[in-house]
Amino acid sequence: MSSIDTRCVQAGYTPGNGEPRQIPIVQSTTFKYATSEDMGKLFDLEASGYFYTRLQNPTNDYVAAKLASLEGGTAAMLTSSGQAANFFAIFNICNAGDHIVASSSIYGGTFNLISVTLQKMGITSTFVSPDATAEELDAAFQPNTRALFGETIANPALTVLDIEKFADAAHRHGVPLIIDNTFPTPVNCRPIEWGADIVTHSTTKYMDGHGVAVGGAIIDAGRFDWMAHADKYPGLCTPDESYHGITYAEKFGKEGAFITKCTSQLMRDLGCIQSPQHAFYLNLGLESLHVRMPKHCENGLAVASFLKEHPAVKAVAFPHLEGDKYYDLAMKYMPKGGCGVVSFELKGGRAAAEAFMKNLKLAAIETHVADARTCCLNPATSTHRQMSEEQLAAAGIPAGLVRISCGLESAEDLIADIAQALEAVK
Ligand SMILES: *Cc1c(COP(=O)(O)O)cnc(C)c1O
Repeated sequence: MSSIDTRCVQAGYTPGNGEPRQIPIVQSTTFKYATSEDMGKLFDLEASGYFYTRLQNPTNDYVAAKLASLEGGTAAMLTSSGQAANFFAIFNICNAGDHIVASSSIYGGTFNLISVTLQKMGITSTFVSPDATAEELDAAFQPNTRALFGETIANPALTVLDIEKFADAAHRHGVPLIIDNTFPTPVNCRPIEWGADIVTHSTTKYMDGHGVAVGGAIIDAGRFDWMAHADKYPGLCTPDESYHGITYAEKFGKEGAFITKCTSQLMRDLGCIQSPQHAFYLNLGLESLHVRMPKHCENGLAVASFLKEHPAVKAVAFPHLEGDKYYDLAMKYMPKGGCGVVSFELKGGRAAAEAFMKNLKLAAIETHVADARTCCLNPATSTHRQMSEEQLAAAGIPAGLVRISCGLESAEDLIADIAQALEAVK
């Protein structure tokens, strides 16, 4: 199928004669078979088919196939959340004793997953600046490193990753690059085209776009040659005794090994499956993703441009705003736009941020981004509330920082709302 717009609307599901036009919600935990022999073949991965929704469900598979098409991958799977997607993507190729390198500018939940929870499981990590040079990246790798991880546009710092540089570093060290592409979505950036091997998403954000269903996804580019690095990836390259001695990389090749293993081992043992109903909501969001993203980006740029000129504002971060530190990278990787999230710092600090947000009428205070409705958050009084002023400063989160996620309302109305709320902090 050709353009990304058409794929947003139609990829993943093609009904036959007399079948439903919209993807059916297969609201069933299980599937019926005539003989145990038929079902046994499915358990042995000898035949493909459905037997239990924790492992696979047709509705989820239609939507995963659409995501594979959008990102340009060979296989994909849905998970119950973005957190589950990033956990599975890493844990599918890392065992206790292994190590990963990650950009330090990533979502807080992912930072915690890598630095605390994976650490407890024996997987260690080294964080690098998203602006690290090739030499600095090389220095972070160890003999037991199994993956490099980063975010295309980081939430909430809005740094832009030089994907090609990170992909080259990963491949020099014989490991895959995993990219969380939540903020730009495949409409604005397809990391696989720049060398990424595995792409993850919190579909909760723009893909859903309406704030209705938490979800995640993993997409495999199908390019990483696991067998060429078999010593590093025994889980993919040696027989899985819990699956009748199947060697995933041999049986399913580069195109299918990663997602098949992730489904048949991690989803089997850890759960975290998306519900078919939520997959259906996600698909509704995807059908208009290519129409919504340009509007989010346009509103983000209009709001960022307004804020930059305002006397109460100390600094603005928006990669697509000329003069932003990441402007050149943003234009290279996302010439059409990135996302609608803008971060800015008020001169008046914490008190000004609180007064500003209290006075907003259109933008609601929420722990969320990437919704059709504009929302905002002051990390110092919410997500990072436990930190002192000194700790906030050290983490690069000034007390007066506000993150605003521009929705799909009119830019004029949003700016008018922001302008009147800024009056209150003068
Ligand atoms: C929100 C988010 C996540 C976590 O996703 P959930 O769906 O909330 O579990 C991961 N990565 C990024 C970039 C996010 O914005």
